[in-house]
Amino acid sequence: MTLTAPHQLPGHLCQSPSTLVRVSERYPMRINPHCLSLIQSVDDPIAKQLLPDTRELEDHQADPDPLKEEAQAPVPQIIHRYPHRVIFLVSNQCPVYCRFCMRKRRLVQDAQVPPDAIRQGIQYIRQSPHHNEVILSGGDPFMLPDGQLLDILQTLHYMPHIRILRIHTRIPNVWPERITRDTAAALSAFHPLYINIHFNHPDEITTEAEHACATLANAGIPLGSQTVMLKGVNDDADTLHRLFHRLLEIRVKPYYVHQLDRVPGTAHFQIPIEKALALMQDLRKSISGQAMPHFMVDLPEGGGKVELLPETCLDRHENKWILKNFDNQPFSYPIK
Ligand SMILES: *Cc1c(COP(=O)(O)O)cnc(C)c1O
Ligand code: SF4
Repeated sequence: MTLTAPHQLPGHLCQSPSTLVRVSERYPMRINPHCLSLIQSVDDPIAKQLLPDTRELEDHQADPDPLKEEAQAPVPQIIHRYPHRVIFLVSNQCPVYCRFCMRKRRLVQDAQVPPDAIRQGIQYIRQSPHHNEVILSGGDPFMLPDGQLLDILQTLHYMPHIRILRIHTRIPNVWPERITRDTAAALSAFHPLYINIHFNHPDEITTEAEHACATLANAGIPLGSQTVMLKGVNDDADTLHRLFHRLLEIRVKPYYVHQLDRVPGTAHFQIPIEKALALMQDLRKSISGQAMPHFMVDLPEGGGKVELLPETCLDRHENKWILKNFDNQPFSYPIK
């Protein structure tokens, strides 16, 4: 059974249901059986991502939509920020609701995207010949029944100007049984199709998650990962190292690490950007380049994403730059 209210939690995970109810009334709670089975105590990394926390109510950062996604929505389910690619929000549902979700404002129990809104989104993409890539997101696209998801992909796949399809999902680790061989085989009709999977902690890479990723990879779908830097969950180099290395081992290429967006109710997960960058620099020392994701911040007011890198240039002269290596040793590098 999927849990949607604090009093449904086992006692050791909820000392005071009446307090947590105030949180879940404000920001919906949802924990499915797979994730519940991974939670041992309130302090473990899955629990911290999914259990309502009273600190959510203490955070009054102003804007539920700091990235101005709504303003960049030409039709309700499309976010259009870059010239050639759009995000198409095909579902408002997820099997679990992460407490730090940047689209917290949109998460409502059981809300469906109306078929008309899907049609409007498709129409918008059809009439935008300069677009060449569509990213299905949400919520989670895999919350749609296969028939509906495949219909949308098929329609987009047959638009001549759409060259690349992408799905952003958390399903392979939060509801791995959803990824069947049949689903993967059906998806493989829409190549080039890429799937990016949200992973935050090595404990999420269970045997079941590994199997789901293998099923997709075996269908020829290139897999990437997206991770959010979260205080208390993954803000140490050892955890990130294990996460990214394990991802490579299951054929998921680490793609992005995101600085958490400042949406209300998430401040207790926030990490100073300096610390995040120091972690990325630490990783560089010890991890294969293949396992190294890009560290991204999403600019307020819909400015788009920017990659941040640890400082590597110590000094610039006319003919040479002084660069420091992974071990902080300076080297002179001729630039002309
Ligand atoms: C993140 C994002 C994308 C995808 O960006 P990539 O850098 O290609 O992964 C596209 N559109 C919007 C609005 C986004 O926020
Ligand atoms: S899976 Fe993604 S969209 Fe869904 S609640 Fe978690 S962060 Fe938000």
